[in-house]
Amino acid sequence: MNSDHSTTSTSVDVPRLLKRCSAMIWRGFHHSQCMRKGTITAANGRAYCKQHDPQKAADREAQRRAQEKAQLELRSLLRIQAEELIHQIGAGTYRGGAEIVLSFAEVSALICMLDKDR
Ligand SMILES: [Zn+2]
Repeated sequence: MNSDHSTTSTSVDVPRLLKRCSAMIWRGFHHSQCMRKGTITAANGRAYCKQHDPQKAADREAQRRAQEKAQLELRSLLRIQAEELIHQIGAGTYRGGAEIVLSFAEVSALICMLDKDR
């Protein structure tokens, strides 16, 4: 009966108290187990803290990739628009972002063209 009681208390309290985050983290010169409490049980059955919860880490990674993809698309769109403008005015060099640079000679040529049209 006494061992029954000890088994019951073990199965209820100890695993919860002993559960530590299963994540291995880099500490200066070696890997060691995360010191935080494993409050989340992942799909693999292991315990993790909030920071190292594999699902949340995967969500953060997916969000980061989506932001990266959106930025690449924006850069690509800006480049296409810049190249179109450079083609239209027949001068300039695309420098990335929202910047087109004109040389002195290109500006002079453009001014000459505008003066001819007047
Ligand atoms: Zn952790």
